Amino acid sequence: MAKKMTKKAVAKKTAPKNQKVKVSKKSKKVVASPKKAKKAAPKKAAPKKVVSKKAPAKKVVAVKKATAPVANTQTLEASLLELIRSTSAVLPDDVQKVILEALEREEKNTTAEYAMNIIKANIELAKKKSQPLCQDTGTVLFYVNHPIGFDQGAFTKLIQKSVVKATEMGYLRQNSVDSLTGENSGMNIGPGHPSIHYHQHSKPTVEVRLMLKGGGCENVGAQYSLPYGPLEAGRDLDGVRKVILDAVHKAQGKGCGPGVLGVCIGGDRGAGYIESKEQLLRTLDDKNTNPSLAELESEIVETSNKLGIGPMGFGGKTTLLGCKISALNRLPASFFVSISYMCWAYRRQGVELSANNEIKKWLY
Ligand code: SF4
Repeated sequence: MAKKMTKKAVAKKTAPKNQKVKVSKKSKKVVASPKKAKKAAPKKAAPKKVVSKKAPAKKVVAVKKATAPVANTQTLEASLLELIRSTSAVLPDDVQKVILEALEREEKNTTAEYAMNIIKANIELAKKKSQPLCQDTGTVLFYVNHPIGFDQGAFTKLIQKSVVKATEMGYLRQNSVDSLTGENSGMNIGPGHPSIHYHQHSKPTVEVRLMLKGGGCENVGAQYSLPYGPLEAGRDLDGVRKVILDAVHKAQGKGCGPGVLGVCIGGDRGAGYIESKEQLLRTLDDKNTNPSLAELESEIVETSNKLGIGPMGFGGKTTLLGCKISALNRLPASFFVSISYMCWAYRRQGVELSANNEIKKWLY
């Protein structure tokens, strides 16, 4: 307490005469407010022990009035809110296309066809009513590509503000809880949430991608360390293939299939999982530039769809909609295979922002 009084007293005595002095309760920083200057004329004497009346004005460390570090913040908030709304309610075209193709492949009058029809109806209804595709609006993951000199701190605050607004408007469920107490802030804001990943790129534009990843599918993600004895999976692509198929088999219908896999070969445990999720930012119709990985991706989908697990685990021909794999360097001592599983509610969208932060282009 004594320390706080000292800061306040020092500031009152040293601030310019036309400025009121406040002490922020949160930051304990001294803030000078020129607008309320007349009312703020200091009348109470500060504790004599601490403050000298002759303290020179030049020693004042004036805290500048906060300015918006990102241009057109209101426009940016509106753009981010629209990105969240659209991601929550509308599946990207490439995902819709693959789901409809899978529906066509399922045998008529089977439980699998019924499940795929329910999924199709759900997709259409959510889009029409602009409502979340699933009651679980998932972990909110932002991926921001930005040019040099970009203010990440300011952008993070605006993302958080937009997430709060989207939660209030029902685009996101109140879905983030304190891991120790179980308390729900009701705003989707807390340590680690939303999850925001920044990448500097060489372009002058800002691109914002958003993924909403459901809890059920996150729960069936897996990480293997090769060699993996139970499957006799060695440290090669055949070993990788074995553990990926094992993860699909273990998931059964629990991840709300048909699903899509993002896989990372190598890296450390943390980097592997991050990279495996970023693979889910690729479109389903793209082709891996590495021929070996492209072949493995196709093989995984083909083999998984012969396992008979099917949509929601009801049996059928569609267990996986896609598989995307990349590789990171690893230590000689380690060989991890990290697998992120995405459910049929594969919510990812992205925008490129214009110079004034309007949505210039949709990325999916
Ligand atoms: S895993 Fe996906 S489909 Fe299943 S409840 Fe969660 S968000 Fe919904």
